[in-house]
Amino acid sequence: MRHSLSDYLKKMQERDADQPEFHQAVAEVLDSLWPFLEETPQYFENGIIDRLIEPERTVIFRVPWVDDDGEVRVNRGYRVQMNSAIGPYKGGLRFHPSVDLGVLKFLAFEQVFKNALTTLPLGGAKGGADFDPKGRSDGEVMRFCQAFMTELTRHIGEDLDVPAGDIGVGPREIGYLYGQYRRMTNGNTSALTGKGQSYGGSLLRTEATGYGVVYFTREMLNTRGAGIEGQRVAVSGSGNVAQHAVCKLLQLGAIVVSMSDSNGTLHCPQGLSSDQWQAVVDLKKGSRGSLEELGHIEGAEFLPGCSPWQLECDIAMPCATQNELDEDDARGLLDNGCQCVVEGANMPSSNGAISLFREARILFGPGKAANAGGVAVSGLEMSQNAMHLRWNEKEIDDRLQDIMQCIHQACVQSGKQDEDYIDYVKGANLAGFTKVAQAMLAQGVI
Ligand code: NDP
Repeated sequence: MRHSLSDYLKKMQERDADQPEFHQAVAEVLDSLWPFLEETPQYFENGIIDRLIEPERTVIFRVPWVDDDGEVRVNRGYRVQMNSAIGPYKGGLRFHPSVDLGVLKFLAFEQVFKNALTTLPLGGAKGGADFDPKGRSDGEVMRFCQAFMTELTRHIGEDLDVPAGDIGVGPREIGYLYGQYRRMTNGNTSALTGKGQSYGGSLLRTEATGYGVVYFTREMLNTRGAGIEGQRVAVSGSGNVAQHAVCKLLQLGAIVVSMSDSNGTLHCPQGLSSDQWQAVVDLKKGSRGSLEELGHIEGAEFLPGCSPWQLECDIAMPCATQNELDEDDARGLLDNGCQCVVEGANMPSSNGAISLFREARILFGPGKAANAGGVAVSGLEMSQNAMHLRWNEKEIDDRLQDIMQCIHQACVQSGKQDEDYIDYVKGANLAGFTKVAQAMLAQGVI
């Protein structure tokens, strides 16, 4: 059955009315794919789009645990296994109060395309809970993680589904989750990635997403004869992705004018120094202080409640969370001469903001391509675990750079509009879609 794009999206929205983030992610993908789909009827005829937007399986479960005061708490846990046509489900776990089914479906949907782009055989999934680790003691976080994994264990496995971290799930949480998984399964497998170095983790996994974003940016700039050195970069976020993106930017000679968190923006007009970067990393370890505490350091000012998008910059790198950059922000960036926006976070830009960037024909790198370095090195962690060996840092970094180059090349191949413009949104969506859709066609209607 054929529809117009707007009818198709309307039908989807009516079906799951309370999932706006999921609708947004699907609309972004289908908007760029629709002309191709209309020319290639086999995808509609085989229900590929209908199957792509329906998770293969969704698990929702109770997570009961006891806080430090002896009170019983109950959170809601999820795993959305979206698509396994090209490999085992793979995608992070998010612990944040905003987590619900719509947020996880959007993340799992994006993950399917992203994982296809990595060149590795990985399907897409996402999971998590509406639990907030912020302000919780280590004991509380451990008990929560153990309760969460007690149920999740039934649904994951090294050839089935391999979760990793995301917002609110860092090395501490992965350690507790993996410990409980081992206890439950009486085994030692690679059913989780992002593990610590002493128990099967890969070198550079922690750094991989942020480094990968910068490697991707380098490739994009290269198409216009430019480099990273000397560029003024506004970064949002100060968690895993932002920290390591900033680290690599500083190594390559960029001037980083901001980092941010949920309270506001730390603005460094002359550029963040390595010492200031280290102060941010130390502050965000463990109990995650607010960047406000660093507002007094020399050369920095804290802008409470502000995002970095009104600051002057050549490159903007949103690395915090979804929908953190809207149309007004996009206009601010364009008015201030920003020439390149690269998404470290998943879906940080609204669809309206993306349209403005595409109309202005600036370099715009969508998250599903630019931030795929993290899942790529997770894939390399799975390979090392399966082979019972460990690659050194240079081997991993070389592979990561190769993968980011391949992803960039795939985007160029499918997204080049003319001599002067590469539409990376179209390129990433088309390249990711084609790989998954071909695998689905080959395997019949399942
Ligand atoms: P972290 O939890 O380490 O950091 C998240 C950062 O975003 C923190 O600085 C946090 O501030 C800030 N933040 C969260 N919510 C908001 C908000 N509503 N407004 C402003 N700032 C906010 O997460 P990650 O760095 O791992 O993830 C960041 C993004 O990157 C997410 O979109 C994630 O899905 C994506 N991503 C992560 C990958 C990974 O390997 N970790 C891989 C690919 C994508 P505060 O410190 O105040 O909480």
